[in-house]
Amino acid sequence: MPLPSRFKHCPHCGSAVDYRVPADDNRERAICAACDSIHYQNPLNVVGTLPVWEKDGRVLLCRRAIEPRHGLWTLPAGFMELGETTAQGALRETHEEAGADIEMGSLYTLLNVVRVGQIHLFYLARLRSPDFKPGPESLEARLFSESEIPWDEIAFKTTRETLRCFFEDRRAGRGFGLREFDIP
Ligand code: ZN
Repeated sequence: MPLPSRFKHCPHCGSAVDYRVPADDNRERAICAACDSIHYQNPLNVVGTLPVWEKDGRVLLCRRAIEPRHGLWTLPAGFMELGETTAQGALRETHEEAGADIEMGSLYTLLNVVRVGQIHLFYLARLRSPDFKPGPESLEARLFSESEIPWDEIAFKTTRETLRCFFEDRRAGRGFGLREFDIP
């Protein structure tokens, strides 16, 4: 995946931008030749949950109805919106993608995906009900035991890594402390 696309046109006035280092800065920025505004681009946060049905230990995955990775499985997650906290965003995404009723737990994984300019944050969550109502971004939402996880059909490395840690910690019976990774 390439880095997020760089501005070609000024978001303010629509003129072409140049990339150069502004005075008092140390890296190239998009600078509008017409209105002189400088446009900064920074990493985006992706927030999600790892919802568990504690009665039998199964975890919730959603099958994507949208590109990229249409038809593959993922934990419910998406881009954080302005005006919400990371936990609120993760809860919202879980409602939107799975229609799942959850109780939020602690932050579990923090994954730097430098190549695409993203930071992914996953919270543990407890399902209050095993009934789901997948939204338009999901083909289906269902529970999986560890042995049922479709490892070859997981959409994203950050989902795979979060699930791998979860089952590893659970088998070891050592609790779920925060895990931090850089995805190469
Ligand atoms: Zn401009």
